[in-house]
Amino acid sequence: TPPPGPEGAPSVPRPVPGACFSRARPTPLREPRVVALSSRALALLGLPEPDADAEAEAALFFSGNALLPGAEPAAHCYCGHQFGQFAGQLGDGAAMYLGEVCTATGERWELQLKGAGPTAFSRQADGRKVLRSSIREFLCSEAMFHLGIPTTRAGACVTSKSTVIRDVFYDGNPKYEKCTVVLRIAPTFIRFGSFEIFKPADEHTGRAGPSVERNDIRVQLLDYVISSFYPEIQATHTFDSDRVPRNAAFFREVTRRTARMVAEWQCVGFCHGVLNTDNMSIMGLTMDYGPFGFLDRYDPDHVCNASDNAGRYTYSKQPEVCKWNLQKLAEALEPELPLVLGRAIVAEEFDTEFQKHYLQKMRRKLGLVRGEQEEDSALVAKLLETMHLTGADFTNTFCLLSSFPPEPEAPGLAEFLSVLASQCASLEELRLAFRPQMDPRQLSMMLMLAQSNPQLFALIGTQANVTKELERVDHQSQLQHLTSEELQSRNSTHWAAWLRDYRARLDKDRGDAGDTATWQAERTRVMHASNPKYVLRNYIAQNAIEAAENGDFSEVRQVLKLLESPYCQEGELAEAPKATGPDGAATVASRRPSYSSKPPLWAAELCVT
Ligand code: AMP
Ligand code: MG
Ligand code: MG
Repeated sequence: TPPPGPEGAPSVPRPVPGACFSRARPTPLREPRVVALSSRALALLGLPEPDADAEAEAALFFSGNALLPGAEPAAHCYCGHQFGQFAGQLGDGAAMYLGEVCTATGERWELQLKGAGPTAFSRQADGRKVLRSSIREFLCSEAMFHLGIPTTRAGACVTSKSTVIRDVFYDGNPKYEKCTVVLRIAPTFIRFGSFEIFKPADEHTGRAGPSVERNDIRVQLLDYVISSFYPEIQATHTFDSDRVPRNAAFFREVTRRTARMVAEWQCVGFCHGVLNTDNMSIMGLTMDYGPFGFLDRYDPDHVCNASDNAGRYTYSKQPEVCKWNLQKLAEALEPELPLVLGRAIVAEEFDTEFQKHYLQKMRRKLGLVRGEQEEDSALVAKLLETMHLTGADFTNTFCLLSSFPPEPEAPGLAEFLSVLASQCASLEELRLAFRPQMDPRQLSMMLMLAQSNPQLFALIGTQANVTKELERVDHQSQLQHLTSEELQSRNSTHWAAWLRDYRARLDKDRGDAGDTATWQAERTRVMHASNPKYVLRNYIAQNAIEAAENGDFSEVRQVLKLLESPYCQEGELAEAPKATGPDGAATVASRRPSYSSKPPLWAAELCVT
């Protein structure tokens, strides 16, 4: 098919009979300029450490203004279930493949430009991304990799003088934002949704994939994915009669990887934000970074995506949502994989693999290095509950636990408790967190509506909202009568109770082995390697974005460097996270507390769409 020009994007789902890729062409940008490069990601492609000259070349090639020799840009046609509904054809509307790089060491990497202009699947949209969303995807891809979490990578972030409008200012004037491109790198960007283009009409939406009639493409795509990305499974299933067992082994592996990936997310407080089937990697990689967020104050119901009104993708729902998405993949693989078999695999594998991996990781985070105990799951659950009750910071609490004195008589316990307390929410923060967002009159109207017409109420989808609002009102009325001192003493009671359990568990871990020093050294090492000091908190990204929007890219580069070593370095003392940084000031320098400190108050108001 001919490449679409800038105005060539059709506004209806684009049929691609007999294919799941359409050729595309990057649309050039005005004066492309490198915001930042990830030398660690570019090294995957065999590229040398970039210098100043390399930046000019990178700006040219990674903006899409020039094509790498041999590149054959194409956009992928995929479908997806979005927020629980089959959405029909989506496809790469803002991303295009450049091709693959095969390295001297025999690795094979797909390259993509995200934001390089319209493709056959852009519909009415412009195929562009702006500076803020690109910086977030660039930084988070690399941050996740260095945290040890499976993810697609980012090699470059290139901005330009071309602009698009995404929003208007309060005064009604359009807000121009700079078109920006991210170079993404992964073994493959094939998604669960890639297989959903074969889906027959959905019973609820009536929508069908565009290639219903072409089962042979599903077979081709499946063969391609398994032989390219799961070669060990292909190698052990070579006969025609092995097809179903092969597909089952493949799906089992995808299920396990997905379970481990989301377990990793839970252990680092990462919320993806848009867990639609089209954002789920067939290799179990974290992908498509949009309105993601890392937990600051621990809240299981945290919604990081401002447009997720129903709270479908809260932190605590991520595991079940991933499981649901796997069931949709199973449906899409039928009849290549009989659905009963697919469902059985999810049922057999997902929860077990998730629990196993989650607890293993949590044990390491708590420095429990000598085996499992029955009570571990309850200990972790109670820790999270304590964090929730006291409004503790997720990252800093785990980080701090590495310096918990393991002996009851060890010095420093009082100091430990006071630093721990500084990680908990202040009254001011809690009042902000539990501030009702619904007008009391609005709330009572909703409740009346619910009584008179529950169906209508369910339709508006506000049941969860109202429940949450009621909880907030309740919390706020409790908080109103509390003094800071009372809050502190309430928090210490909660923490003292959990730390008692933790110490008892540590005693079991130490055992009678005698060599306490070796045990302590081992657990400190494990904890430092499992509890990051730095994650890409929204406010850290926001500071870097604001500086970049003013033409200063140094903060993006510095944050990248920081996130390349998120854990305490060997020999570096776990420095106690500092209390709240400066608040409300306008310049980056004054708004930037130390990266490992508790986020400033204004961070709680950040909202990403
Ligand atoms: P997402 O919510 O990022 O997973 O995207 C959902 C769908 O919208 C995908 O098919 C994207 O390719 C498409 N999309 C997102 N942003 C744009 C854009 N700026 N232009 C065209 N298509 C887009
Ligand atoms: Mg997406
Ligand atoms: Mg996206």
